[in-house]
Amino acid sequence: TDRGHYRGRFAPSPTGPLHFGSLIAAVASFLEARTQGGEWHLRMEDVDVPRCSMTAADAILRALEAFGFAWDGDVVWQSQRTDAYRAAFDQLLASGRVFPCACTRKELADSALIHEGAVLYPGTCRAGFPPGKAARSWRVRVDAASVSFDDAIQGRIASNLAQEAGDFIVLRADGLFAYQLAVVVDDAAAGMTHVVRGADLLTSTPRQIFLQQCLGLPTPAYAHLPVAVNAAGEKLSKQTLAAPLDVARPAPWLFAALKFLGQTPPAELAQANGDTNCDALWDWAKNHWQLQHVPQQLTLPGLTKNF
Ligand code: GLU
Repeated sequence: TDRGHYRGRFAPSPTGPLHFGSLIAAVASFLEARTQGGEWHLRMEDVDVPRCSMTAADAILRALEAFGFAWDGDVVWQSQRTDAYRAAFDQLLASGRVFPCACTRKELADSALIHEGAVLYPGTCRAGFPPGKAARSWRVRVDAASVSFDDAIQGRIASNLAQEAGDFIVLRADGLFAYQLAVVVDDAAAGMTHVVRGADLLTSTPRQIFLQQCLGLPTPAYAHLPVAVNAAGEKLSKQTLAAPLDVARPAPWLFAALKFLGQTPPAELAQANGDTNCDALWDWAKNHWQLQHVPQQLTLPGLTKNF
């Protein structure tokens, strides 16, 4: 493949219909790819099979079509890519980077190593586990790795993996490969050069870069889109951006997504009712899109944490 060529993607998890938060990621990744003359691909992140549904995947695809998105190539389904994840896991195993862990969720919660609400792995099984216990999940050893990268929107991000993530799971107790591994394998296999996605994933990125390094894979350029916060500075991304979209009237939603992203579409384009695929808005957006106008975070003052 042409290494200098921009290749981006939108990678929704089909756990529910397309919502405003995922529309923002779709719009920004799409416009950034198209205005760079690049490709834009679609990947259904249904690796966590029990949490995903075909109905949701279908609804997302239909919503994207209603909004007038056009993607390159075939949709990639993570549920079909187990062999590729297994090969990457085998590579980690062969290089001694992963170890089996016998800890239950309860045992880990009781160990009370918490970082920003997430349980940090205390290293219990790193050197093996007592006889009589059985392997549940497989974890990657992070040792003293620190990872840093320059995000096109959020600036320089540095992370000490041991303190912020700990040895993390790549193969789950239920036999499914973890999202962190799947994303890394898929982005590399598809030759993705750029990842534009929500800042709710910013804490995952250092783990993904670490896996890329362990697997000898290239690191794409990252741009993490703003999180919504209320007047108190509390993050609202999950609750606020979960509003359902009206796919029969997409223009006002696309208009709102562009505003959220710091762009300034003319007001009359918000109400283009006859414009079912938002053609007029897309025309404007493709001519005016500016990644540097996207804010790092967005204050929505009227909202409370439990909105
Ligand atoms: N599937 C993830 C989500 O919907 C996005 C992953 C990504 O863009 O890397 O939150």
